[in-house]
Amino acid sequence: MNGSGVRLVLLGKPGAGKGTQAALLSAHYGVEHLSTGDVFRAAVAQGTPTGLEVKAYLDTGELVPDEIVIRVVDEHFAAGGPLEDGFILDGFPRTLVQAEELEQVLVDHPLDLVLNIEVPTEHVLDRIAGRRACVNCGATYHLTKRPHVDWTCDVCGGDVVQRDDDTADAVAHRLEVYAAQTVPIIDFYEKLGKLASVDGVGDGSEVQERLVKEIDGRFHPGRT
Ligand SMILES: [Zn+2]
Repeated sequence: MNGSGVRLVLLGKPGAGKGTQAALLSAHYGVEHLSTGDVFRAAVAQGTPTGLEVKAYLDTGELVPDEIVIRVVDEHFAAGGPLEDGFILDGFPRTLVQAEELEQVLVDHPLDLVLNIEVPTEHVLDRIAGRRACVNCGATYHLTKRPHVDWTCDVCGGDVVQRDDDTADAVAHRLEVYAAQTVPIIDFYEKLGKLASVDGVGDGSEVQERLVKEIDGRFHPGRT
């Protein structure tokens, strides 16, 4: 395990491949992959007081407020494990307030690096607008990577459709929200000297190589 204990944040537009890269890096470095969704689900499943608050927001489809998101993440870390052993955050922090609060949560275990996966807007529009998902199990496909039989899920036989939040209009809106919220976060980490930007165009393994090079270059100087 060459980067054991590394503490990372992944940033990138919707459709930039953050989730895929977080999973690959998590396996590569042997550290926990923490998506906001996972942390929310764990808190709800454990029925903690904060978990119940999260559930109330998720049930109504409302955005969980910053203050509660921070609290869930803080409680997750306090429960032990990833602070010492390392982690990759994916989908968090999402706002400048969350980024500032995260620095407080991690005051004794600071982030090592924040990786910004850069892809052109047209690229993510193509990627997301072509995306299709199984209504039953959530397996994802693409216009260029279809199920074997019509639009029937290879995994479970369910219908494969375009999700409402993957339409061109919905994606354009998500990109606007992303730009408004994330540009300040990128500036924040740049000022802290923790930001590295990586070209996110290419297949998953090419992008992973660039990320690993960036991470290892920072923590293992002279390694090849
Ligand atoms: Zn399915």
